[in-house]
Formats: sequence, C-alpha cells, structure tokens
Amino acid sequence: MQAANSQVGIGRYNEARPIYTSDIFRSEGSDGPEWRTVHLGLDVFVEAGTPVLAPLDGVVHSFRNNSSHLDYGPTIILQHTVAEQQLTFFTLYGHLSTGVARPGQLATWLSLSPDPNLVICIPAACFPSDGRSVEQLRRARVEHIGRSLSISYQHPLKIVRGWMQYLYDENGRAYLDAVNNVSHVGHSHPRVVKAGQEQMAVLNTNTRYLHDYLVEYAERLCATLPDPLSVCFFVCSGSEANELALRLARAHTQRKDIIVVDAAYHGNTTTLVEISPYKFDGPGGTAAPTYVHKVPMPDVYRGRYRRNDPQAGKRYADYVEETIRQREQQQSQVGTFICESLLGCGGQIVLPDGYLKEAYRHVRDVGGICIADEVQVGFGRVGTHFWGFETQDVVPDIVTMGKPIGNGHPLAAVVTTPEIADSFNNGMEYFNTFGGNPVSCAIGMAVLDVIADEQLQANALGVGNHLMAGLRNLMQEHSLIGDVRGLGLFVGIELVLDRETLAPAPAQASYIANRMRERGILLSTDGPFHNVLKIKPPMVFTEANADFLVEMLDGILAEDFAFSGHGP
Ligand code: PMP
Repeated sequence: MQAANSQVGIGRYNEARPIYTSDIFRSEGSDGPEWRTVHLGLDVFVEAGTPVLAPLDGVVHSFRNNSSHLDYGPTIILQHTVAEQQLTFFTLYGHLSTGVARPGQLATWLSLSPDPNLVICIPAACFPSDGRSVEQLRRARVEHIGRSLSISYQHPLKIVRGWMQYLYDENGRAYLDAVNNVSHVGHSHPRVVKAGQEQMAVLNTNTRYLHDYLVEYAERLCATLPDPLSVCFFVCSGSEANELALRLARAHTQRKDIIVVDAAYHGNTTTLVEISPYKFDGPGGTAAPTYVHKVPMPDVYRGRYRRNDPQAGKRYADYVEETIRQREQQQSQVGTFICESLLGCGGQIVLPDGYLKEAYRHVRDVGGICIADEVQVGFGRVGTHFWGFETQDVVPDIVTMGKPIGNGHPLAAVVTTPEIADSFNNGMEYFNTFGGNPVSCAIGMAVLDVIADEQLQANALGVGNHLMAGLRNLMQEHSLIGDVRGLGLFVGIELVLDRETLAPAPAQASYIANRMRERGILLSTDGPFHNVLKIKPPMVFTEANADFLVEMLDGILAEDFAFSGHGP
C-alpha cells in the first residue's frame, strides 16, 4: 500500500488465492482433494488502529473471539432487517474459517454469501477482469489457434500462475508440476524474473554492438563445458539450435548424410522434421528422406540387447558402424551423428555404458562429427554431471541447448569447437535478430547463478534417487510397472500389460496421467508406444514432492481400471 501510495487496500470477493493451498485448507471432494481457495468476502485493508465502522445499521447477532488456527481475532455478525420488504440478512466481519470456499461448492457458497461490494460499492473498474472460462477459451482457441496444436489432458487446465514447482489454475488450485523441465530453477524464480526486468528497463538490442553480457555469458557457458567446446552461437529455441548445428556440421564435413536414433525428436523446422523419426514416422509424416539414416534406440529394457548384457552399449553402437559401411557401399559418406544424451521422446531412456563412446568413434573414424542434443537434459538435471553427455564419458563436437537454459525465456545456444566454427565462417554471415540479446544473456546468467547457489544439481541427484527408489517399491505391488529408469530428475516409468512379453499399456498410461492431473500432479506420456510416464520436474522438486507423487500413483494404480482384464 505504501509503494502504491494508497490508504486502502482491497482484497476481492470470489477471488482464487494461492495462499490457501496449504494443507490446512485441504479437504476431500468427490473428485479428489480440494482446497478452500476462493475468497467469499471482501477485504478492506487500512492502517492498524483505524476505527472500523459497519457500513449498514444492524443488531449484533453474534460475537466470538476466535482462537483456532484458521481464524484470527474477533468475529462479529450483524443482523439487518429491511422492514418494508420483510428481508433479513447478515453481514459478517472478521477472518473466519468459512471466509473461503472449495471451488467444487462455489456456486452454493456464492449464493449464500453475496458480494459485499453491493454494500461497499467499490467501482468495478478497480478490479481486473476474471478472463474467460475453460469452455470459452477452448472454443476461441479452435477458431484462432493453429489446429495441429494439442491440449494436455481430457479436462484441459487453465493455468494462470506459476511458483517454483507449482502451477495454479483459475480457482487457485495448486498442481505439482512434475513434467516442466523448461522452468528449470522453478516457475517465476524471483532472481531470474528480476534479471530480465532490470535489463529490459535498460537495454535490449541485437548482437552487432559490443556488450559485456554477451561475452560474459559465453565465457560462463563455455566454462561448464570440456575443451575444445569454446565457441557459442546464441539462438531462441531448441529447434533453432539444432538447425544451426546441422548447418555447422554440413559446412565442416561438406556432407549431408546423417545418422539419427529411432523415435528421436530434434525440432519443428522443415529440416528437423526430416531428421526426427518421432515426426516423419508418426501421423502426417512422410518417412525418412534418403539422406537420413535411422539406427535402433539403445533401449536395454525393450530392445534387442538388454540390461543383462554388459556389451549392450557397444552392440547398439555397432548399428552406427553398420550404417556407415552401408553408405560407403552406396559411394556416400556419413557426415553427422546426432543423439540426445538421454532419449526423451523415445521414452526417458538412459543410454547404456559405452554407447556414445563407441558410436562417436565409428563416426569420427570416417571424418564425421557428433552432435549432442542437450535440449531436454542439460544444466545439471542428470544430477551426477552438469551435461548428460558427461555420463557417457565423451566430448561432442557440437552441443545444442534449449528449454532449461532461460527458465522459460526463449533462449537457446549452440556451442562448438573453434575448428568447426571456422569452417562455418565462409563469408556468409550468421545473424540472429534476437539470439544473445542483453536481456536473454542476463536471464541466462541468472539461471546459472541459481543452479549453483541453490545447489540444484545435487538436489536433482538426491531427490531423483529418492523418487526412483519410491517408484521401484511400487513395482512389487503393481505389475503394470515394467520399468523405472532415469538419471537425476529425468525419470521414466514404462507400463506393460505383461512383464514377459512387455506388451505396452498405452491406455493405462493415458488413464494414469489424467487421474494424476485430477489428484493434482502433472506429468505426461511418451515413447514409441505411448506407454511411458515422463517425470522431469523443475529442479527445486523436493523429497516430500516425490513422496506425494509416489503415494498418489500408488492409489491410482490400485483403482479398478475400466480396461478389460488388465487391472494393475
Ligand atoms: N531437441 C529435443 C531433444 C527436444 O525435446 C526439443 C523440444 N521438445 C527440441 C529439440 C526443440 O526445441 P524447441 O521446441 O525449443 O524448438
């Protein structure tokens, strides 16, 4: 109020308030837990000691000095009678446990407890609009937003606020975000927000001027990487990063042939769809172009070589060599191998030991170069290391970064060797209007600061291991869980109908994701059979969050599924 130079502060009627999402406001609704988040009164905040007057004449109906943990101070109820109309009504003053309602019972409470502003008469223009309902948004979206964009969950969510590992809907209900690896250090992290706001107020321009932040950020990013990865290009999305990486690779090798891992997704541009089996083999896809060569996923759960084979990594890498030999027979030479450091869309797959080492060796033997796509897993998520590729004991020629790098700000990067950067410097300028602007760099540096200061990499390791232990415990009770795998806070739960045949359980995966959403936990499904539950939360996820997730999943797995003969 002081900052706004205001003598009166107003708290609105029928307003959802995140403050009421702690467990003391929780109760069991018919459709899962609900919180009494919606404020039924109208607050008028004034300086302490200001006399309080009733806005209408009345008779004291009750007076109580509340002492329960939900109520503070005295509560007075006045009775008012309008004789001519034989109308009696009550006004209540105080901070009562009944001052907030569950969204599921809201219509009833609002009808019993009309808007106090009928009496106080604060002009409507003082209040922000409530926005549109879920149904209204859905209809408008179909009309004006590209229709190839899907919406998560059977009952779509309208999310209006984020804080750390939580998202809040329009009713103030909190959802534990177990899937957004973009909000790496937490939704709306104040240090990241402040860095962006402050720099936006000073300067935002392109990289053709000298600026401290551009070089400082490049130095700091390169310091996280092994030699000789020391030259940065800043862009605005993971797709732009991979697109540029392909151009660098082609410029350096003068070759177009590329090896990609089955089920991989590398981005949304024309070329990246051409090299992403997830897209070109999926609905609407038109198969691989002749220059793109797929190798099987090194999936030690479902693939040809399994976890019990200590040579699995090498054997899967042999497919890379085989592809190289096949191309040679066609008088062609493979130029590039691109691989995520853990497979995301492929189903949260951890690469077997030695896979990248052997695959890189084969590719480099013929003068090819290796791209590590770290868009999903970089920046400490795997816990033991800052970069996913480090868990494979390799140094890529090009690393692409996106999603977590800007905590939601559209920032991405490509880092490569001086040699490859020189090959690309062939006279044609590479200019990116937004990439590397001072606001993006300020945000990128704030993200690095927070990861270090809050020790989020160590947190990912500890909480990730705790989570996976809890999930593996569930396997004893629930045969639907075929596999729990991951590194740090990048975890997958693969669901199968039969642990021998590994018959996938996509319908169950979708059911569980939707039920988890109803219980207040957000995760998603993926993998070539859509039967893997993906967990990749903001890195501030706690052990208590992990326990809550495991507890809710346990309950849902015990539910009587509506699938014939395939209860968990
Ligand atoms: N690479 C990988 C591994 C990804 O998962 C994605 C996005 N899901 C991309 C690249 C593309 O990133 P963006 O959506 O920021 O263009």
